[in-house]
Amino acid sequence: MEEKRQCQNCRHEFRIEQEDFNFYEKIKVPPPTFCPECRSQRRMAWRNERTLYRRKDAFGKNVVSIYAPEVPFIVYERDYWWSNAWDPLKSGQEYDFSKSFFIQFNELLKNTPVPNVFSNNVIDSPYTNHVGYMKNCYLTFASWECENVLYGAQETRSKDISDSRAGVNNELCYETINCEKSYRLEFSQDCSSCINSAFLYDCRNCADCFGCIGLRNKQYYVFNKPYSHEQYKEKMNEYDLGSYEVKQKLQKEFYDSLTRFPRRFAQFINTVNVTGNHCRNMKNCYACFDLYDDVEDSKYVANGGLGLKDSYDGYGVGVVCELLYEGIDTGVTGYKERFSIVVYTCRDTNYCFNCENCSYLFGCVGLRNKQYCILNKQYTKEEYETLIPKIIEHMNAMPYTDKKGRVYRYGEFFPPELSPFAYNETIAQEYFPLTKEQATEQGYTWKDPEQRTYQSDIKTEDLPDHIKDVKEDIIGEVIQCAHSTSSGQTASAVCNEQCATAFKIIELELQFYKKMNLPLPRLCPNCRHYARLRQRNPLKLWKRSCMCAGGKSEIRNSKSETSSKFQYTNTAQHFHGQDKCPNEFETSYAQERPEIVYCEKCYQAEVV
Ligand SMILES: [Zn+2]
Ligand SMILES: [Zn+2]
Ligand SMILES: [Zn+2]
Ligand SMILES: [Zn+2]
Repeated sequence: MEEKRQCQNCRHEFRIEQEDFNFYEKIKVPPPTFCPECRSQRRMAWRNERTLYRRKDAFGKNVVSIYAPEVPFIVYERDYWWSNAWDPLKSGQEYDFSKSFFIQFNELLKNTPVPNVFSNNVIDSPYTNHVGYMKNCYLTFASWECENVLYGAQETRSKDISDSRAGVNNELCYETINCEKSYRLEFSQDCSSCINSAFLYDCRNCADCFGCIGLRNKQYYVFNKPYSHEQYKEKMNEYDLGSYEVKQKLQKEFYDSLTRFPRRFAQFINTVNVTGNHCRNMKNCYACFDLYDDVEDSKYVANGGLGLKDSYDGYGVGVVCELLYEGIDTGVTGYKERFSIVVYTCRDTNYCFNCENCSYLFGCVGLRNKQYCILNKQYTKEEYETLIPKIIEHMNAMPYTDKKGRVYRYGEFFPPELSPFAYNETIAQEYFPLTKEQATEQGYTWKDPEQRTYQSDIKTEDLPDHIKDVKEDIIGEVIQCAHSTSSGQTASAVCNEQCATAFKIIELELQFYKKMNLPLPRLCPNCRHYARLRQRNPLKLWKRSCMCAGGKSEIRNSKSETSSKFQYTNTAQHFHGQDKCPNEFETSYAQERPEIVYCEKCYQAEVV
C-alpha cells in the first residue's frame, strides 16, 4: 500500500510506500509529516559544521566555539567536558505535563554544559569541528585522520592537502572534490589513483595528464589527446599554474570542455538496486548520497556508511549500526537511535543531543554511560517504561507549534527555530541555500556577518600574479576577499556564501603554495568552500532517460561560448545500435542542466 501525503512545510505531495510503513513500524514511529527534502533541511539546520567564534567558556576562558558569544549555553572546553569533573544529571528536570516536550528540551539544552566544538583526538588544530584524529590541520571540518590539511571538508586519511572536499587517502592535492588515492593532483573531481596531474574529471589510474575527462590508465594526455613525454614537458612549461592569470584561463577552458563530454548519471561502484550519487558497496538503498561500504536497506541518508542497515533520514551516520532514524552525526554501533544529534553507541534512544554509550534515553543532553533517563533525570526501568507512553501521548496531545504554524508531535525532528545556530551558520545553507529574506520568511533565524573593525591591508588585484613573486611578509596580512567591496562589506548581490570579506595566509599554507607552484587564492576560505560546493550536484534526484541517441547524443544547449548547441559524437558502438538508448534512471543532474547525461552502459562505452 502506498500513500500520498502533503508536506507540512513546502506543501508538496510526497509518497510513503509500503516498505516505508514497515520501517516506521519496526522502530515504532508514526509516518512523517514533512517530505524527505524538508526533513533533510530541518535536520541540517541543527548542524553548524564550519562557523567558528571566539567566546568565553563557562569559566571565563577564551575559547573557539561553534556557539556564537550570544548563545546562552554553558560552554565547556572539550577536554573538560569529557572529564568526570561535572555531572550532567545535575541539570535533570521532572517531566512537566503542562508544557510541550520541545519547550522542556530547550530548557534542558540551555542548562546542560556543551563542549566548545565537536572533536576527538585533535592535536594542534584549534580551528576544526566535527573531526577526529587530526594533527596540524587548519579550518578543516567534518574530517577524520588527517594531517597538515588546510581548508578541507569531509576529508579522510589525507595528508598535506589544501582546499579539498570529500577526499580519501590523498597526498599533496589541491582543489580536489571526491578524489581518492591520489598524489599531486590539482583542480580535479571524481578521480581515483591519479598522480602528477591537474584538471581531471572522472579519471582513474592516470599519471601526467592535464585537462582530461573519462580516462583510464593513461599517461601524457593533454585535453584528452596523447603526447610524447618530451611534448608533454613542453606543454607543461606553457601551462604554468603558478600564475593566477594562466590558472584562471585554463580553468575556464577545462570547465567548458567538461560540458562537451557525457556524464555518468551517477557515481556508483559495486551497487545493487541503489539510487543517489557517490555510493560504493551498497544494496537496496534509495536517495542515498556520499555513502560507502556495507550499506543496506536505507533511504534518504547522506554522508557516512561503514556498516549501516535499515536506516532512514540521516546526515553523517554509520559505523556498524542499524535502525537509525532522523539523525545527524550519529551511529558508531548505534541501534534504534531516533531523532539524534551527535549520538554515538546508544540503544533505543529518542530526542538526544550529544550522548554516548547510553541506552533507553528520552530527551537527554550530554549523557555518558547512562540508562533510563528522561530530560537528564534518572529513573528505574519500571518508572521509565511507565512514563514513556505517557510522554508520547502528551507530545501528541500538546504538540509544539512553531512561528509558521508547523506542528511538532512525537515523530518530528527538533524544530529549527530551537536550534542554537542561525540557518546560515549551518549546513542547511550549503545544501538548501536561501537569502536572508527567504530564510526569515520561512521562519529560520539568520545571523548577519560581524562588522569588521579592521581595514584590509591588501586588495586582491595588488597580489603578485605568480607565486614565485610572493614574499614571506604576506603571512598574516589582511587580504580583501574578491567578493567583498572596498568598504569591507559583502554585497549580497555578489555573494550569498558567508563571505568573511577578508582573509589571511598562514605559514604552512604559503609553504604549500610555493612547493606546489600554485598562485595565492583571491577568495576567502568560505567563498572557496561554496565554489567547491557548486561543483557538486545537489542531494536530490530527477527521473530521466539516457541522452544517447544512437551514434550521437541528443543536442544540448552548451554553456560554452564557442558552441551554443552541442551534440557529442560517440566513439564506440553501443549495445542499442543506431536507436536511442532505452535506459532510464534517477540522477542528480536536473533536466535543465547543460550536461549530456548517459546511462552506465553508454558511459562506459565512451571512457577509454
Ligand atoms: Zn516539503
Ligand atoms: Zn569571501
Ligand atoms: Zn544509454
Ligand atoms: Zn548509447
